[in-house]
Amino acid sequence: MTRLTVLAGPTAVGKGTVSSYIREHYPQVWFSVSATTRAPRPGEVDGVHYHFLSEEEFDRMVESGSLLEYAVVHGRHRYGTPRAAVEEEIARGGSPLLEIDLQGARQVREAMPEALFVFLAPPSWEELVRRLVGRGTETAQEQERRLASAKVELAAESEFDRTVVNTDVSTAAREIVELMGLQPQTTRE
Ligand code: 5GP
Repeated sequence: MTRLTVLAGPTAVGKGTVSSYIREHYPQVWFSVSATTRAPRPGEVDGVHYHFLSEEEFDRMVESGSLLEYAVVHGRHRYGTPRAAVEEEIARGGSPLLEIDLQGARQVREAMPEALFVFLAPPSWEELVRRLVGRGTETAQEQERRLASAKVELAAESEFDRTVVNTDVSTAAREIVELMGLQPQTTRE
């Protein structure tokens, strides 16, 4: 079954970890490679994890209508989904997955209401706080800011078609793949 799936959820819910797990264990899932103006982190490869663009290059993609959606995420850098690659994958009969933020998900909802919208939720608010503070990559001020955003973001769950609770990464990944209509038993687990 060919259907675009959008995976979104609050900050620190573990979207990145679940996505990496799906990438590794479910090669039948095609991931959209986003464009971003942020700098690569160690180990990130241009064209694989993101298309790393300058502000000017990103502007050009916006102006030419080449992005299916785009947003400023965490008040800093711009991120967007290149439209052509997703459309090609749909035409090919594949199952594209977009792991994007909530603003982007709302834009895709407008453009492609037939897509499947999956909300990745934390087991509890306490667990979300624990994950955000525990990863220790943000300053205390940034943590406060992200927790405030997470509270607002959690309320968006009702806008989504389905919710997957991220209690355990492999279970959440399998549930997402099942919702996409793919056969989870063909994994490399
Ligand atoms: P990071 O910089 O940690 O890789 O990603 C930060 C955030 O950007 C994540 O919440 C991720 O979902 C979001 N993001 C990544 N790619 C896109 C995209 O193409 N569009 C939108 N709207 N958000 C994205």
